[in-house]
Amino acid sequence: MPQKEVDKRDAGNNFCPVCGYPLGNYNPWGDDGKTPTFDICPCCGVEWGNEDYTPESRKEYRNKWIAAGAKWFDPQKKPANWNPEEQLKNIAYETDR
Ligand SMILES: [Zn+2]
Repeated sequence: MPQKEVDKRDAGNNFCPVCGYPLGNYNPWGDDGKTPTFDICPCCGVEWGNEDYTPESRKEYRNKWIAAGAKWFDPQKKPANWNPEEQLKNIAYETDR
């Protein structure tokens, strides 16, 4: 089961597993956590169920996204004073550093 990462997710509080973008009660992996929606994250642009399918691919996509400057897929949704490091704390991400 690719569900080993420690994070703050619970029933009413979902985050993008790649970038930590807050999704409220929308779960990109379905209510059972196993049924990906194949939607695109407005922040990091990951396709849920595709590039985030395993913890390894999740980390790989995340690292690539950060290395490329953490650009928004949908820049209109980017909040003022947005801080990628703060957002990534939502998912207690681990890097290879
Ligand atoms: Zn994302």
